[in-house]
Amino acid sequence: MSSDVSKPTSPTSPSSKATERSSVVRVGVLGGGQLGRMLALAGPPLGLRCVCVDPDVAPPCAWVAEHVQRSVDDPDLPSLLDGRVDLLTYEVEHLPIEALRRLERRFVLRPSVRAVEIAGDRLLEKTFLRDLGLRTAPFAAIDAPDEARAAVEQTGAPAILKTRRWGYDGKGQRRITHVDEAHDAAVSLAVPAIAEGFVRFSRELSIVAARGLGGDVRCYPLVENVHREGILRLTRAPASDVSSSLQARAEALVTRILEAFDYVGVIAAELFEVGDELFVNELAPRVHNSGHWTIEGAHTSQFEQHLRAIAGLPLGSPAARGASVMVNLIGELVDRDAVLAIEGAHLHLYDKAPRPGRKLGHITFVADEVSVLRARIAQLPEPLRSASLADFDATR
Ligand code: AMP
Repeated sequence: MSSDVSKPTSPTSPSSKATERSSVVRVGVLGGGQLGRMLALAGPPLGLRCVCVDPDVAPPCAWVAEHVQRSVDDPDLPSLLDGRVDLLTYEVEHLPIEALRRLERRFVLRPSVRAVEIAGDRLLEKTFLRDLGLRTAPFAAIDAPDEARAAVEQTGAPAILKTRRWGYDGKGQRRITHVDEAHDAAVSLAVPAIAEGFVRFSRELSIVAARGLGGDVRCYPLVENVHREGILRLTRAPASDVSSSLQARAEALVTRILEAFDYVGVIAAELFEVGDELFVNELAPRVHNSGHWTIEGAHTSQFEQHLRAIAGLPLGSPAARGASVMVNLIGELVDRDAVLAIEGAHLHLYDKAPRPGRKLGHITFVADEVSVLRARIAQLPEPLRSASLADFDATR
């Protein structure tokens, strides 16, 4: 281990030696996508500088941060990072666990590997949530296609079969309406998988929260999310019609998760609202798309909050500044001039080439009144305008 990059001796300082030399803390971010890019943009005002690790030639983060072009399981990575980072974090949740463990032995890694290990595997994740006493969809493991029928008999149909690992944005999923379809669905999906009973939710909510090094927890307000084809399209923040008791229950459940992981950093819990209950759909042990509104719509953005948490700095206020709506740019880009001409439009482009289903950027509007948010969306160019108005009107 290089003498420059030692494990922290103090609970509040990622590297006392680096801090003596300079007040800048260097954060290695595993993954160089848009989340890493927005983390990197939040660093400099806090005296933090990000270095992203990504095997691509020009990942979104590389425009705004130093880039180490390696994959996380590259055997040379630890020595390449030696002396260049004071601590590590990650912006992707599907990471090779053994490689992470190697890095964790050499560097300070926050959040811990355990959170990725559990959240990156739907069976471990659901079991973890159930063991914490939280509600989830009924689920059963499918280790081979001929176990699929029994699994769906257990969960009930309709059901969704999901691969245990590597699924995202609705990928690696098959919906079935009848148990007779279970076997074929499992054959067309990679096993191991799980079957999940279909939850008849009234809306999809999520909560983003952070836990600091000292164990203090800050929760953002519940937000409402609209998905189409398994991809997040629009977030309204705060969600409307949220009683203080619903917010308190969401905060209690995410705090239980944070404490069970002894977590440090930002986490997101995707929730289904069913009557007055909250079911946990999945966890993201990182900053999350449903928290992008916080850049302009909250006193502390989720990206700043994550950096504060992992660097042992005091956490900031998660309070909303008003009402916000975040619209994702999926698959195709939008006319930049037309968006920027709309009053109060905050455009975030990720420097990604258009491809169907790909997240290319997002737009946030913040206003005092919800009606103003709708009026701003109505000024977006087509076809984004019509789709986003429909998504907005689908929220409560
Ligand atoms: P996921 O990849 O698990 O987040 O699933 C993507 C989307 O599919 C969710 O945001 C929901 O809209 C829907 N979905 C996933 N699981 C279920 C379930 N068990 N019941 C109902 N809808 C679901």
